[in-house]
Amino acid sequence: MTPVVEKLGAGVDEWVSANQAALSATRRHLHAHPELGYAEFETTSFLEQRLRHHGLVPRRLPTGTGLTVDVGSGSGPVVVLRADIDALPLADLKDVPYASTREGLCHACGHDVHTTVVLGVAIALASMDGLPGTVRCVFQPAEETVPGGATEVVASGVLEGASRAFALHCDPSVPAGKVGLRTGAITAACDRMDVTLTGPGGHTARPQLTVDLVDALGRLITDLPGLLSRQVDPRAGMSLVWGAVNAGVAANAIPQRGRLSGTVRVLDRDAWKGAEELMRALVERVAATTGAEVDVDYIRGVPPVVNDPRSVALLRNAAMETVGSENLLLSPQSMGGEDFGWFADVMPIALARLGTHGGGAPLDLHRGTFDVDERAIGVGVRLLARTALHALEADSGPPRTGRRAPGDTSARRAEERREPDDEFHRPTG
Ligand SMILES: [Zn+2]
Ligand SMILES: [Zn+2]
Repeated sequence: MTPVVEKLGAGVDEWVSANQAALSATRRHLHAHPELGYAEFETTSFLEQRLRHHGLVPRRLPTGTGLTVDVGSGSGPVVVLRADIDALPLADLKDVPYASTREGLCHACGHDVHTTVVLGVAIALASMDGLPGTVRCVFQPAEETVPGGATEVVASGVLEGASRAFALHCDPSVPAGKVGLRTGAITAACDRMDVTLTGPGGHTARPQLTVDLVDALGRLITDLPGLLSRQVDPRAGMSLVWGAVNAGVAANAIPQRGRLSGTVRVLDRDAWKGAEELMRALVERVAATTGAEVDVDYIRGVPPVVNDPRSVALLRNAAMETVGSENLLLSPQSMGGEDFGWFADVMPIALARLGTHGGGAPLDLHRGTFDVDERAIGVGVRLLARTALHALEADSGPPRTGRRAPGDTSARRAEERREPDDEFHRPTG
């Protein structure tokens, strides 16, 4: 550990100890006021207000929700910390004082925690001098949409000039106080494919006079996964699983139309790039043997998050100092999707798993019962702040060119305003 990381890291630890209650209150406020992707207007205003109060200058993203803010010296390397701010269209089923106040909306993926963590890092670091570069905090909208708000962040150019990006995601299968890491792919790509077959239809007594559409659907269902397995490197982890099949009504009539829907999941980023072309070619090859007309609707999802080894090493250093080696786990690769993978189009990235389980029955993401042990929030702040410090030190070198950052701490301004319960303050003593 270098003296800078040691000193500033200790400062963050102190800040977290002094602000546990405010961190919980912030997370509870966000939890009670969930908003859907690209509609996070109140959340964005809330974050702007908090950041401005601490002398920071947030800039909204062009999409109208979400924002970025730079913390630090304004010179030297730039590293990105990313939080997602949107909620899900699910009913909150919890009986807690901070349950969602909005019917049919719930922070069931822990994005309220991610947002609170990155807000905490921004405010904690803003209270310190001597940051060896700039920490660019990105509060991203619409993670739960396809292809995801991350595409807008990348397109907006706010990542330009930064050397790498980090994020974390709540993991309810891991106890609070522990952190999961993984080099390489940690989430999967998931695309959707709808195949429609059409033919003339006819009597089941005379299949030779028409196209037996049900037989054709059956061939696609059984042949495609097998063909696929011979076309793709098995290590790419590409799998096609059908979830719906619909055709016909009568036992003695060959239908004119049939439809298959399924998902294509891919563990490898390069293999994912070629997935659509390959699937279309295979569907057409099989359909051609049946005589049916075929139409493929292929909907691209998000790429896998592939963790850069060097960035994972920086996370690991920070995790060792934050929770100790005994609380550091190897995360399995999830088959779930996460749009942070788009950031890898422009820079190395790494996503860590933040343990949030507090005992009791197992909880899962995307359920109305999802909740976290709030001790995880402080762990997240300390982990990401230290990771950013390690990354700034590692990436310091000749100054980078690139667009000047949105947000700038050099323009600090104090605002006179009432201090709410969830206001953060400097540690005393
Ligand atoms: Zn989610
Ligand atoms: Zn999520």
